[in-house]
Amino acid sequence: MNPDFTDWYGKPYYSLNAYCRNTFGQKLYKASLNAGLSCPNRDGTLGRRGCIFCSAGGSGDFAYSVLDEAGKLSPDSFETAYRKSLSALSFKGTGQMFIVYFQAYTNTYGPVSYLDTLFRLALSQPSAAGISIATRPDALPEPVVELLIRLKKEYPSKFIWIELGLQTIHESSADFIRRGYPLSCFEERVKRLSQADIPVIVHVILGLPGESREDMLATVRYLNRQPIQGIKLQLLYILKGTDLGRLWERDPAAAGSFSTMESYLDTVIASLELLRPDLVVHRLTGDAPRSLLLAPSWSTDKKRVLNTLHRQMAEKQTWQGMLYHG
Ligand code: SF4
Repeated sequence: MNPDFTDWYGKPYYSLNAYCRNTFGQKLYKASLNAGLSCPNRDGTLGRRGCIFCSAGGSGDFAYSVLDEAGKLSPDSFETAYRKSLSALSFKGTGQMFIVYFQAYTNTYGPVSYLDTLFRLALSQPSAAGISIATRPDALPEPVVELLIRLKKEYPSKFIWIELGLQTIHESSADFIRRGYPLSCFEERVKRLSQADIPVIVHVILGLPGESREDMLATVRYLNRQPIQGIKLQLLYILKGTDLGRLWERDPAAAGSFSTMESYLDTVIASLELLRPDLVVHRLTGDAPRSLLLAPSWSTDKKRVLNTLHRQMAEKQTWQGMLYHG
């Protein structure tokens, strides 16, 4: 069935922008914050070197720290960080409401009392439509889920989303990137969040070393069957200072990713065609910090990438879910 492109605002997929305009009557931008937390892959619990692609900024290089100079969280320090992140967005002509995005590191990896204070500070900002919390399924114990359920009840006009960095369903790739938890853990926590009525957005990386196009599409097919609400399809960025960057310097072919925009778009379009049409596409390209980016160099022109994607999908007369059969 041909989708209702009106609801998708003319795009051949259900973008976050379209979802926000349908749901909140306006586009919502993400104000990126660094919650001052670490990650089990970095603090020694599971490892110290992080996932092989993760930068020193914990995949949140544009996020503002909510801590003051003494490393403490307070209403003042939070509001300062929030104000800075809104100023960084001011050139985009934003509306009045924002998504507070806890982006860097693992944002449920801390004492429940700290998370309680942190999330309340965010939810009580008058210009916050809701919060989006990037984390890992193995850092979402039951007391944290119960906290989220309580906050949902206390702030009924705000949303709480969880973003899970799955990256791939293939255990060999997960081992190679040092993700540090099995697929069963993801599945179990997604089920629990679904029972709690907390929307889940899943991060997938396209171009992981050793993965074929069919491997990536298998991840998309699997996610179609999960009780999730959104997806981010991210290009694998190869960044300076990461183990993946060091591998690329020794042997570019072994580091994965896509050497050309055309090959990347071919996989993105095939992924979108398979994707459940109700899943909100939160991202199709990323924003790698230019100072850290080693490859792929074509990815810096994000506008060109998106324009080419839209043009190719129009030429092919295809859209999100065209090949989805329930
Ligand atoms: S789980 Fe996230 S923050 Fe932690 S090392 Fe991996 S990518 Fe970085």
